[in-house]
Amino acid sequence: MHATHGSAAVTPPGWAVDLITRKYHDDLLSLGMQLPERTSLRIVMNDVQDIDAISAIYDYPDDALNHLKNAAKEFLSDFYVDNEYLDRIRIEIIDVSDTELIRISQIRKEHVNRLVKIKCYTMGMTPTTPRILVAAYECMRCGHYNYIVQEHDKLIEPFECENDVCGRRSAFKLDERKTTQQDWC
Ligand SMILES: [Zn+2]
Repeated sequence: MHATHGSAAVTPPGWAVDLITRKYHDDLLSLGMQLPERTSLRIVMNDVQDIDAISAIYDYPDDALNHLKNAAKEFLSDFYVDNEYLDRIRIEIIDVSDTELIRISQIRKEHVNRLVKIKCYTMGMTPTTPRILVAAYECMRCGHYNYIVQEHDKLIEPFECENDVCGRRSAFKLDERKTTQQDWC
């Protein structure tokens, strides 16, 4: 499997197109007219009802923001808004539910790359940080996953792809979801 993160050519999924073109139709049109002076489109999480949209935004926020931006760009490109301006659109997620509220001291490996809500003031702390035990590197040439045991602070990349028919020595991408992590105090 090959990942296609961040590519503008990817068609946004249905939930993103629905959310953008239905719920934020008017906001988007007014944003289109105010570009490039105004660039932010605010998605109010407490108003989002669609379960696919909710799970995509909470579980894969980086991808979800890209999808929403692409859906917004696609929608506005029908109104002849300059492509260079469309690239400046910023999706902001606001009003995240209190059910996602966690304390900094409760952040664990299962929260990595997820959307969480934090309310805090700091007086001093001893942080718990997730530490990588086995890093999963995807070979960008053949898609093979190379699992590298990590023993030091600095991440060690594969020397070469373990796939016999590949053996390439560069371009590996860390896949954090396939990587084994441990909470470290
Ligand atoms: Zn390879």
